[in-house]
Amino acid sequence: MKNSDIVKRDLDVLWHPCTQMKDHEWLPLIPVKKGEGVWLEDFDGNRYIDAISSWWVNLFGHCHPHISGAVQQQAAELEHVILAGFSHEPVVRLSEKLVQITPPGLSRCFYTDNGSSAVEVALKMSYHYWRNTGKPEKLKFITLSNSYHGETLGTLGVGDVALYKETYKPLLMEAITVPSPDAFLREPGSSWAEHAERMFAHMEAALERHAHETAAVIVEPLVQCAGTMRMYHPVYLERLREACDRHGVHLIADEIAVGFGRTGTMFACEQAGISPDFMCLSKGLTAGYLPLATVLTHDRIYQAFYDDYATLRAFLHSHSYTGNPLACAAALATLELFERDDVIARNRELAREMGEAFAHLADHPHVGEVRQTGMVLAAEMVPDKHKPEPYPWEERRGMIVYQHALKNEALMRPLGSVVYLMPPYVITPEQIRHLARVATEGIDLATRA
Ligand code: PMP
Repeated sequence: MKNSDIVKRDLDVLWHPCTQMKDHEWLPLIPVKKGEGVWLEDFDGNRYIDAISSWWVNLFGHCHPHISGAVQQQAAELEHVILAGFSHEPVVRLSEKLVQITPPGLSRCFYTDNGSSAVEVALKMSYHYWRNTGKPEKLKFITLSNSYHGETLGTLGVGDVALYKETYKPLLMEAITVPSPDAFLREPGSSWAEHAERMFAHMEAALERHAHETAAVIVEPLVQCAGTMRMYHPVYLERLREACDRHGVHLIADEIAVGFGRTGTMFACEQAGISPDFMCLSKGLTAGYLPLATVLTHDRIYQAFYDDYATLRAFLHSHSYTGNPLACAAALATLELFERDDVIARNRELAREMGEAFAHLADHPHVGEVRQTGMVLAAEMVPDKHKPEPYPWEERRGMIVYQHALKNEALMRPLGSVVYLMPPYVITPEQIRHLARVATEGIDLATRA
């Protein structure tokens, strides 16, 4: 079987995510036959380093024997069972572990089966908490500009990436949007920390004005990933935790993309020493094996729902595949790898390699910034090096980098004009250097005219 055989059949019956399908009249679709470690291989025998961890989900490479083995074993025992009224061992063990490793105070896990639905749960739970405690007027959400929390109507409502949101705006709830502490937009000469402190004034003002009608503030801690990997200093989260407490507003940390070691610590919130009221996890939770998500919260929230049935205070939200045992087995095997291999320490070394391999791009005439937080590194292509403004999106310059990378054994998928690396943790320094070479050539090509 060849690539072309699968592609023809695919294009007859599929509608792909986040894709203008007409692009595939000129842009080859790549059918993947198998994966091993950082490598993906197509049906024609071409190989690609998965530099973006397949939409940021993969942690330990494709077809990792330990995780594959755990899923196989679980499949022979129990594939799925309803989680209402019933339970199973993998979900109990996973919940115990997550409570143990997440920031202090988070003591309950509620499961869903993808990131967006986990964010929906956090939003609903927060509002419902206030309703159950006699404050139904607290029904708004505060979000940061350029944030992303998923694609469902509820999560688009608290997101702020125009490309995904604009079309559906008439359908969406309206959030209160506060300017992001994005360090790329800092004034020349000021540090990430100074910029974060300064930008916090906007959040403080929004809380002062809206706390009485606001259920929660939702943020992506440290990196706004879909918002083109814009980053900010942890001091912003410290200030935010303190201000949310002072104003009586929940803090929702959406660690769906940044959790499980991406930012250099197991969870990004750790770098600010804070515990949110709700923490959303997905993606790396199963190391990219199976769809699973969870929302962790603390006992005060849980107790506000705990009552006689007839009071109708229960959280009656459900998804069919909630807490799927196969996915829980993958998650448990993933956490075992974190414990066994001291992954966070090894990632520090890999992050240093990434920084060194890409450092030269800071001098590129059309790179506005090379920024990095742990295992996330981004180079932003700009028309004018001295202005933090991207190329017009219509020019699709990132596409040139994407195509160049494919010809050179790499899957890179720039976000607009931002070329980035968010690789599996099993990548080698040589592979990182290869990706840096490919990215540099791609950026040269894409910014030539
Ligand atoms: N929140 C964040 C921060 C994300 O990056 C994403 C996915 N890119 C989501 C939520 C949505 O997750 P999912 O795609 O699993 O619905």
